[in-house]
Amino acid sequence: MATDNRTNWHPESWQAKTAGQQPLYRDTEAVKSVVDRLGRLPQLVTHGEVEALKKQIAEAARGERFLLQGGDCAESFDDCTADNIANKLKILLQMSLVLVTGMRKRVTRVGRIAGQYAKPRSADMETRGGQTLPSYRGDLINRPPFTPEDREPDPELMLRGYERAALTLNHIRALVDGGFADLHHPENWDLDFVRQSPMEKEYREIVDSVRDSLQFMETIAGSRVSGSGRVDFYTSHEALHLLYEQAQTHQVGHDGRWYNMATHFPWIGMRTAELDGAHVEYFRGIANPVAVKVGPGMSAEHLKALIEVLDPHDEPGRLTLIHRLGANKIESGLPPLIEAAQATGRTVLWSCDPMHGNTEKTQSGIKTRRVENVFSELEQAFDIHQKMGSHLGGVHIELTGENVTECMGGASGLTEKDLERAYRSQVDPRLNYDQALELAMRVAGYRLR
Ligand code: PEP
Ligand code: MN
Repeated sequence: MATDNRTNWHPESWQAKTAGQQPLYRDTEAVKSVVDRLGRLPQLVTHGEVEALKKQIAEAARGERFLLQGGDCAESFDDCTADNIANKLKILLQMSLVLVTGMRKRVTRVGRIAGQYAKPRSADMETRGGQTLPSYRGDLINRPPFTPEDREPDPELMLRGYERAALTLNHIRALVDGGFADLHHPENWDLDFVRQSPMEKEYREIVDSVRDSLQFMETIAGSRVSGSGRVDFYTSHEALHLLYEQAQTHQVGHDGRWYNMATHFPWIGMRTAELDGAHVEYFRGIANPVAVKVGPGMSAEHLKALIEVLDPHDEPGRLTLIHRLGANKIESGLPPLIEAAQATGRTVLWSCDPMHGNTEKTQSGIKTRRVENVFSELEQAFDIHQKMGSHLGGVHIELTGENVTECMGGASGLTEKDLERAYRSQVDPRLNYDQALELAMRVAGYRLR
């Protein structure tokens, strides 16, 4: 594979570095064959789409737009169904409608979707009843049941993941092209169970007011308001499994830059952001817009160095920093990080993930999050950025369009008891439909009755 002379980088150069969170495959020949086959398959996204998203992220970094990024903690192959995909699109479209109306800003929608199949784990191995097996690392790598066969990393799953991602993207494109996201028809986004939602009345009022304004403007102008007929929708995932990402990295466009063509917007997770690690090495060479999760352990020096490596030329839209500090750490933790970024002179987009710093376990051992902590971290984030002459231009949320009970609190008052009822996530707890819509209303400044 050709090396990029300007940067001394190529899609495999990460292999000379220490790569955290990678599976240990036994059959190296099988891995090689999968990577070869994956590299020959059609690209999932286009160069034009990736560059269009980068422009929108640049606008958000300048305060002219807002980034809404959300989806499952981990997608599973079994959940790749038409309903699941449409429901995720519906909740993100409803949230963005609320945000656009309340913030008077354009909103860019990005799903944690079509590739969010690999998960970092705190331990490589798991022990149950005296037996020790590899941890489940996501459907891209192995399978959840606790048997030696299921937990053995299987390289063929990378091909199955590519196929699920392609099916998911195909369905999203068909829905969007078929007018699903048309602002004139927000009834397309209604979910079956919403009639019982405490958010219903407020949401209806917003929908009606948008419909009225559109009608008014179109009567005056005598034509459709531009951009109201369809919206863009982009994909993102944690680019954790580097062989999967490398195989789908291609030289495209006029200037021959390398792009990750498996997703529009990959991010580096908190556990793999070491400066001299393999993930940072891989990310520095791709031309996509990229993001890094910034957790409580990251020093100002580390952040500055990451910004230098990932965005050496201050390219508009290139770098998004997603802080995920926790409701009780953000007040002390965020200001030094903002100062560090400001000291580099770069224009980055700041986004807040109010989920991952607020995970807790109930007495009975269920992983959950309190909606009040999620809202609190987000509200503090807006205030802190504003006070420091910076601004928060996005949110990053784990959510689902399904009626699950994984996080506690919110307008429908879910309690610890409710977690037993409809807890479906294999990994982190997601906001359900009501909780996600309530979050959008809070962000947009709507006050609930
Ligand atoms: C995640 O986004 O699911 C995740 C693991 O996040 P983080 O890297 O911030 O812990
Ligand atoms: Mn998660």
